[in-house]
Amino acid sequence: MLSSLPGVGPKTAMRLGLNLLSRPASDATQLAEALISLHQQVGFCDVCGCFAEQGRCQFCDDGKRDASTVCLVEQPVDVLMMERGQGYRGSYHVLHGRLSPIDGMGPDQLNMAALDKRITNHEQASVTELILATSATVDGEATAHYLANRYQSCDVKVSRIARGVPEGGELEYLDEHTLSRAMDQRILWDQTGL
Ligand SMILES: [Zn+2]
Repeated sequence: MLSSLPGVGPKTAMRLGLNLLSRPASDATQLAEALISLHQQVGFCDVCGCFAEQGRCQFCDDGKRDASTVCLVEQPVDVLMMERGQGYRGSYHVLHGRLSPIDGMGPDQLNMAALDKRITNHEQASVTELILATSATVDGEATAHYLANRYQSCDVKVSRIARGVPEGGELEYLDEHTLSRAMDQRILWDQTGL
């Protein structure tokens, strides 16, 4: 079971299992209880689909965040990664996957109806910008294209996160696609904030 978790191979799984066996039984009980309560206490936000202990997540509940800007990501964990950057103060929307016809993932399998509601329902705080932060994979790009088309006629600005040279990155170690995309998405010096 442990070896089915990401980043845990059979050897690590065995090491973890043996370690738990060598500890007092109460440690294993405590871990088991924590795992059980994980599913009982943590669910998904009614509005954005991010992790939430009750109906709405901490981001949707935070009145200081800009609800009119929505950053769209594939998985709840992507929200945590975005928050590590500490620069974004808008809200989120989690798709819970990306379009992938081969895997049977179409628009109906994703958290898209809730996004439609947020974008087209002008009675609530209206969404003025949708930032597509899907992954830089073939399926992630296809999903971004699909969403840009889906909301083309709506009164919302659709943007895509830029890609390029990572912080501290040397050009010689970049792959040609990243470098070429960085050239395509170059910005004026005045807008770099440097
Ligand atoms: Zn939320």
